[in-house]
Amino acid sequence: MGVKAVLVSGNPGKLRELRRLLPSWEIAALDTHGIGDETGATFEENARAKALWGRPRAETSDWVVGEDSGLECDALGGSPGIRSARFAGLGAADEENVEKLLADLAGFPPAERTARYRCAIVAIDPDANEYVGHGCLEGMIAEWPSGTGGFGYDPIFIPVGERETVGELPEGWKDRFSHRANAARALLATVGREPSP
Ligand code: IMP
Repeated sequence: MGVKAVLVSGNPGKLRELRRLLPSWEIAALDTHGIGDETGATFEENARAKALWGRPRAETSDWVVGEDSGLECDALGGSPGIRSARFAGLGAADEENVEKLLADLAGFPPAERTARYRCAIVAIDPDANEYVGHGCLEGMIAEWPSGTGGFGYDPIFIPVGERETVGELPEGWKDRFSHRANAARALLATVGREPSP
């Protein structure tokens, strides 16, 4: 029997990816309506805060998972970072965040458009033991959006070693190499096993 888990997230893109990345975990979603502003200083703190917020609300004895991720641009001193989802304002659409980032980076040459995605996953088991996984994906920000795959900043993020944005690369690419894939692998290593279905 696999791990039954509840992901504390209202982001369907994350849920879709984590279900593929943790195939022997049965992952339900707990909506974050009413969770309030993110107050952590790091991705890990925010991921933990989501998991702890969700634990008493999940109404199950399953594992509870919090995930926080975002994009760091070197030319912007690491921004938008933990503010990636609300870069263009609270409740901003992905397209608005992308538009603001491209505007902020206007005039920066390719060599100065380096960036990375980061992801932290915090999983709490039914006995309240905590497991953490971190992942990163290096790349650069394109001059304009291309592709419709993925979500968020994927249409403007070109991974190191690739010519296309994550939005253009095949779906399976993210499952192998993304910050979330790396974080999920690290998490499974700390859990100590991939539970069999
Ligand atoms: P969170 O829900 O506070 O963790 O916000 C994460 C935000 O970071 C998302 O809304 C996206 O804007 C961005 N982000 C995180 N992971 C990805 C990804 O895999 N692709 C594109 N954007 C991402």
